Amino acid sequence: MSTSTLDVSALEPSVAAVTKAGMQQHASPRILAIANQKGGVGKTTTAVNLATALAAIKKRVLLIDLDPQGNASTGLGLSPQDRKKGSYDTIIGKMHIADVIVHSSIPCLDVVPASIGLSAAELELVDMPRRELRLREALQYQNLPYDLIMIDCPPALGLLTLNAMAAADGVLVPLQCEFYAMEGLSFLVKTVERVRKIFNAALSVQGIVLTMYDVRNNLCRMVASDVRDHFGAIVYDTVIPRNVRISEAPSYGKPVILYDTKCAGSKAYISLAREVLRREKKLQVQSRNI
Ligand code: ADP
Ligand code: MG
Repeated sequence: MSTSTLDVSALEPSVAAVTKAGMQQHASPRILAIANQKGGVGKTTTAVNLATALAAIKKRVLLIDLDPQGNASTGLGLSPQDRKKGSYDTIIGKMHIADVIVHSSIPCLDVVPASIGLSAAELELVDMPRRELRLREALQYQNLPYDLIMIDCPPALGLLTLNAMAAADGVLVPLQCEFYAMEGLSFLVKTVERVRKIFNAALSVQGIVLTMYDVRNNLCRMVASDVRDHFGAIVYDTVIPRNVRISEAPSYGKPVILYDTKCAGSKAYISLAREVLRREKKLQVQSRNI
């Protein structure tokens, strides 16, 4: 595991702004599923970097790696030893979630790694009772000491993603600005609606974040504008730019915020963290008024 620790002071004025936007302590953690059935749209990158930006301001964050590819676990520098047990063992009911949590090298950020076996989970779950609710029940079973739990989903709307959505309060959708983006997005939104009706009445789309945005690319600009026209305020103001430092960081087992604190990608994820917290705060106020 990497031994580098997060230099929070290097993040200053942005961190101060995030803290100001801040989220109040929850009795139980808020749960966000990072989902999009398309691969390569920035789910894992968003999960890892958003989790890091939140941990940098002392929010206690648990990142659950629910993708058999285990990219979030790799991107956070977890060793094969760290990954011997993890989300698979929890979801099939072999181990309690508290027993599969490992600390990352970042203070305040813990991880449930994607353990060997997760790739078989989709098939194994088919015959299990309450197959869509296994992660939700695992998370409810124990009072976990976090402010936020984030779930990095695989690129499919199969049973693993359904488990994440059934367990979550909100879905955060990374969207790459390309031609087929909207098509996939309406299907994803319909899936969220179905999950809300059948398994989880509290579920909503927390937001859509445009990723790998290239301002010089006409199609990219057009798709971004279409998405904003169609989905309105649900799209975060923050846009994650296409940034080479973001793509380099995982090969060093580090989030970009540690790899190059001042690059455009890091700044964008810090800004996204600020928006996510603001929305969480608003949702909390709304739920108190119900
Ligand atoms: P997903 O989890 O949706 O499959 P990833 O987060 O793994 O997508 O991203 C896919 C690839 O794109 C990775 O190689 C990642 O490093 C790269 N990538 C993600 N976001 C950006 C970005 N903003 N700029 C440049 N490369 C990016
Ligand atoms: Mg991924």
